[in-house]
Amino acid sequence: MPSCNTCPVRDHRHLHSGKVRDLYESPDGLLLMVASDRISAYDVVLPTPIPDKGRILTQLSLWWFERLEDLVPHHVVSTDVPAEVAGRAVLCRPLQMIPVECVARGYLAGSGLADYLVTGSVCAVPLPTGLVDGSVLPEAVFTPATKAAMGEHDENVSYDEVATTVGDDVADELRRLTLAVYDRARDMALQRGIVVADTKLEFGRDPDGRIVLGDEVLTPDSSRFWAADRWEPGGPQPSYDKQFVRDWLTSSASGWDRTSGEPPPPLPDDVVERTRAKYVEAYERLTGRSFS
Ligand code: ATP
Ligand code: MG
Repeated sequence: MPSCNTCPVRDHRHLHSGKVRDLYESPDGLLLMVASDRISAYDVVLPTPIPDKGRILTQLSLWWFERLEDLVPHHVVSTDVPAEVAGRAVLCRPLQMIPVECVARGYLAGSGLADYLVTGSVCAVPLPTGLVDGSVLPEAVFTPATKAAMGEHDENVSYDEVATTVGDDVADELRRLTLAVYDRARDMALQRGIVVADTKLEFGRDPDGRIVLGDEVLTPDSSRFWAADRWEPGGPQPSYDKQFVRDWLTSSASGWDRTSGEPPPPLPDDVVERTRAKYVEAYERLTGRSFS
């Protein structure tokens, strides 16, 4: 469990630390969501941070929230945050989170591919035969999951299971919103040379019962980004951001055995620098802004 004692924010009450983000309650009752520079791979947090990653992910989420707000309201209230977390935190409305990881997939990879190879469907959505790792789907599909405990994989569930948990109307709305957000983001990103293979959204309810988009959106941590000019179905696609980290961790150079239960070793400087450069590149390509 990453400790937050290393990054206290004055006058704020610490609520929760996930693998990457730390949550606090602000004095006026808002939620301060701070993205750290921690990076995870294979469901574990690595001991070496990636400089600026928290700032990049926060700025990218903000950019997307703005471009999606005609489709769905979002939780961000302000970026006027304490100086010690400036740039990598947002103040947002506390929501009652809906316990569904709302995933949209436009391409086949990861757990979607694994399900498809066994059942021919993903989350009970039947897909055409003959698809391979990295294939584009005829249209995007809603493939929800339930949130797993720290260190475990989320579990894919069917739409019907979501409807049983949250009711038909909410399930239908979650599916509609998730696909609308994904379709827009996919088109925008593709024009900028990035394939958004899939993405995970989290929604919550505000005090008036409205469904609001929360968490982070369309960052490399919540989505699979691939370089469009290197997309080649038929095998694993290089991950835009974490590929250097994964390659190094699984190489003999790291000396790490994923199945050992041992913590991973510190990352070498060149892996850190190249990974940072990929996060910066994703931000700059998508937003057209320079990251200074
Ligand atoms: P991990 O992502 O490492 O598996 P996690 O999801 O528990 O763990 P983070 O993603 O780091 O941790 O923290 C974000 C947490 O804040 C999530 O639990 C998410 O559901 C919650 N959250 C996001 N936005 C809001 C909001 N507006 N109101 C309340 N909770 C929120
Ligand atoms: Mg999370």
